[in-house]
Amino acid sequence: MAYNGIVARVRGPVADILLDDGRVVPAVPRGTLKRERRGTLLAVGDRVRVTERRDKDTWVIEEIAPRERALVRRWPNTQGRVDVIVANPDQAFFMFAVRDPYPRLQMLDRLLVIAEDNDIPAAVIVNKIDLDSEGKARELFRDYEQAGYPVFYISVQTGAGVDALREHLRARITVLAGPSGVGKSSLINALEPTVQLPTMAVSRKWRQGRHTTVMAQLIPLSGGGYIVDTPGLREVGLWGVDLDNLDYYFPEFRPYLGQCRFNDCRHLDEPDCAVIRAVEEGKISRRRYESYVSILLSEGT
Ligand code: GDP
Ligand code: ZN
Repeated sequence: MAYNGIVARVRGPVADILLDDGRVVPAVPRGTLKRERRGTLLAVGDRVRVTERRDKDTWVIEEIAPRERALVRRWPNTQGRVDVIVANPDQAFFMFAVRDPYPRLQMLDRLLVIAEDNDIPAAVIVNKIDLDSEGKARELFRDYEQAGYPVFYISVQTGAGVDALREHLRARITVLAGPSGVGKSSLINALEPTVQLPTMAVSRKWRQGRHTTVMAQLIPLSGGGYIVDTPGLREVGLWGVDLDNLDYYFPEFRPYLGQCRFNDCRHLDEPDCAVIRAVEEGKISRRRYESYVSILLSEGT
């Protein structure tokens, strides 16, 4: 039978399901599902088939669609434990502001690495261009345009660029993340959420600990499409990203990979390194390269 809803939020054993008819209902998975599925049973973005229980207030999740993609967090030293944070994301948009707060580009670099590692197309939103009287925004974020990422310059306050952005969100599941204060809530409001998820009346137990910090929620937009608000992505570690491929996760390095003298070159201080040469010739941004080195050395083994 057909799937009739999508997981909007997971709170402990209960999930809020956004039904295709627009209602939001709490549901619990059928016991057999728990035994059949390994790893994260349910994540925001999972398509499900639910049925209503005649006698009670809850619904039952009968079936969960296979995931096409996932944003995952791998836990180091746990024999490959993986948490699925978002199921089936079509894209990830990382939001920063021109100023207030000033953008921490190393954080953006890390977020982009996580997206690359999960094979999720990424883009950058630069908000508050109304505060950019000196026209610094493009200069600040030029590296990302050069790396091939779409960069949207917007002002939620004046509305500049918001319609163009809305077009790119249509009919897709978009992960939205970025530091606090950049205007994410303001943007979501401007994009007109169609459903207000019930506030968490659930036991305090589930508000504490890591469930809150990584809790994502799905927000349907009036123009079509969903935003997944992921507060947990703010405190970015690297989520167990596979550092063996780190050079590949910087798209602007790709033309040079395979051209170094050593085929296991880490592009740090090896002789005849094509990546370092490209940095010296100004073809790769030095700041992005330094971000690469810092990630490799801080998280690498
Ligand atoms: P969040 O923490 O990312 O959800 O950020 P908020 O949406 O709460 O916004 C933080 C502050 O930035 C609020 O005071 C907003 O009014 C303000 N803000 C949001 N968008 C803009 C913008 O485009 N321009 C300016 N100047 N301020 C903005
Ligand atoms: Zn190299």
